Amino acid sequence: MLHLYDTRSGTIKDLAPANGKKFRFYCCGPTVYGPAHIGNFRTFVLQDVFRRVLELGGVSTVHARNLTDVDDKTIRDSQKAGVTLAEFTEGWTRKFHADCLALNCLPPHIEPSAVKHIPEQIQMVQKLMDSGHAYASEDGSVYFRISSYPDYGQLSRLDRRELELGKTANARANADEYAKDSVADFVLWKSRRQEDGPNYWESPWGEGRPGWHLECSAMINKYFGTDFDLHSGGIDLVFPHHENEIAQSRCAYGGDFAHHWFHITHLLVNGGKMSKSLGNMYTLDDLARMGHSPEAVRYVLAGGYYRRPLNFTLDSLNDARVALARLARFDKRLADQSGNKALPSYNNFRKIMPSLGEFAPAWESLNNDLNTPEALGHVFTAIKRIQPETLDSTQAYETRCAFHFILEAFGITPVAREEASQDAPDDVKALAEQRWQAKQARDWTTADTLRLQISEKGWTIKDRKDGYDLLKES
Ligand code: AMP
Ligand code: ZN
Repeated sequence: MLHLYDTRSGTIKDLAPANGKKFRFYCCGPTVYGPAHIGNFRTFVLQDVFRRVLELGGVSTVHARNLTDVDDKTIRDSQKAGVTLAEFTEGWTRKFHADCLALNCLPPHIEPSAVKHIPEQIQMVQKLMDSGHAYASEDGSVYFRISSYPDYGQLSRLDRRELELGKTANARANADEYAKDSVADFVLWKSRRQEDGPNYWESPWGEGRPGWHLECSAMINKYFGTDFDLHSGGIDLVFPHHENEIAQSRCAYGGDFAHHWFHITHLLVNGGKMSKSLGNMYTLDDLARMGHSPEAVRYVLAGGYYRRPLNFTLDSLNDARVALARLARFDKRLADQSGNKALPSYNNFRKIMPSLGEFAPAWESLNNDLNTPEALGHVFTAIKRIQPETLDSTQAYETRCAFHFILEAFGITPVAREEASQDAPDDVKALAEQRWQAKQARDWTTADTLRLQISEKGWTIKDRKDGYDLLKES
């Protein structure tokens, strides 16, 4: 059983579905106004590893993750691009999905969008107005009254006095241009502004749009009701986003809201924060242009313990490439020894856990607060100890199943292309990676153009089911 740290109680807790059937969890999703960066993907990849460990441990899940497709940033940038908000966010949603696929993240079962849930959000604001937890200001915006919810600040352990002085909430409050009767009150419904252009909806309080904290609460209520198993996001969301979600959800609907809070510590680049000005807000495409595969990116992101900051460097991607090649070599030896017998699929592994043998400690580490670096350490200890050539074909097959079971939990498939393509120059490798991503996104025109460019440089791409090889043209 998976034991995981819970932000609210500050303790490690066992995870089991409260309804005895399916483990229902919600992750705050991307704001679709540009490509997601590797910081975002640290969070999404670790949420994916979390889900895989639960599922491979025999627990069925319902995974919900929203799309924030209306907020200040999406509206501002769609206008800059001269397209409608819908066109703009649909394009970036497609890109997000393609990147998730390249990173081998399982798609959520439910992926609701804020724009498609405006009536639900208006209803929620109405409930808060009716029960005295919200008030309208002169300009038609509606605010949540923090003082009406005495437990406000519990998740993030905020000092109430600090809140009342407005120190903690000040930054967010000032970023908003609306009048409020208490600095820490947050906006539920924003009245229409000139800059919003055509992006507004009718409501009992006039034309406007939802505030950015509201969507998750309204959609969670629709799909999960008042209580569900777990809520997750990057650590930056603890305050104010998750604090606000708890307050408004409990006041509107009652119940406990999320039973468990899973927060992922931030990714740093070269020991510091990512920023546009430093040019280190890497996207998958940036890294592909440098010749780094999505598998290597996933390996680095999945391999850091979620409760510690992950220091991302380009060197760590090179190390990942070497590690993946080692795993692929070991796999090949096991495959040869077992007569290349087909392996169970992810879904079959969910039904029957193989006997884990030397890989049991890795599985234990994953279940012990998702300690991914410790688990990887155990994997490498195991592959050092095991000599595939000394095993008979049945033993080799069983060992390979155990090895792949752990790899499935990490969501990595060490394919031989890491090795086969080793000799290609970096610019050719980079083009090949871009083509691979274009293929994943089903962008065949770009994929074909890239194939030609690769050929002009004297290399041929040979596709395989799960990857490709780069071969020198003779
Ligand atoms: P956003 O698209 O900004 O709403 O963020 C999507 C997810 O990425 C949220 O769960 C954020 O908390 C998370 N996130 C943002 N920056 C980072 C970072 N540097 N490291 C890890 N997670 C992050
Ligand atoms: Zn949220």
